[in-house]
Amino acid sequence: IQNGRMVQALEEQATTDGLTGLLNRRSFQERFPAMLGRAERHHMRVSLISTDIDHFKKINDGHGHPAGDQVLRKVAAILKARARKIDIVARVGGEEFAIVLEGTDRAGAEQLAERIRNEVAASAFESAKGAFKTTLSLGVAAYPDDAHDMEEMIARADLSLYAAKQGGRNRTVCFADLDRNPQARAAV
Ligand code: GH3
Ligand code: MG
Ligand code: MG
Repeated sequence: IQNGRMVQALEEQATTDGLTGLLNRRSFQERFPAMLGRAERHHMRVSLISTDIDHFKKINDGHGHPAGDQVLRKVAAILKARARKIDIVARVGGEEFAIVLEGTDRAGAEQLAERIRNEVAASAFESAKGAFKTTLSLGVAAYPDDAHDMEEMIARADLSLYAAKQGGRNRTVCFADLDRNPQARAAV
């Protein structure tokens, strides 16, 4: 039993991010193509939400690194609470997260992204320097409408996320809307 627990603990360390408890980048890169493979076989939809905390450097600079870590943990908890058990919720970079939603189309992903955005924007944080708030920018890409493999999904969700940043942050942009709006597209 002791040995089994040890193996389980080591496995958890290898697949999750220590600070937030979310899946790490490596697990994301393993599980995402597996989910797309299942989606292809069973004609299911899959959506990717890429998100990045707005002006996060300012939080670290103004309130200290521990306050930044507190924000990362809180954002992670909101993402985890909003996703379903079958979804992939991962910390893919310093203050960048990804959620892969099985059986969810673009409209469903956009709705979830907006719910997450609003919940984070409504959260209050504290540090020795005082209370503060934070926001997220989010990008959405959907299989099979916008992209056909993991690389394309990531590139298109990131392009949309970049458009959200360019558009003023604290917003969600879907790749489908970039596609329909040449002006927004030209801006990225
Ligand atoms: P933007 O709105 O354009 O995303 O601006 P930003 O300041 O969020 O972007 P930038 O990439 O310049 O800053 C990201 C910061 O995230 C820089 C880095 O120090 C910080 N960071 C990365 N990992 C961690 C971490 O584990 N803890 C803390 N506290 N900060 C981290
Ligand atoms: Mg970033
Ligand atoms: Mg950022």
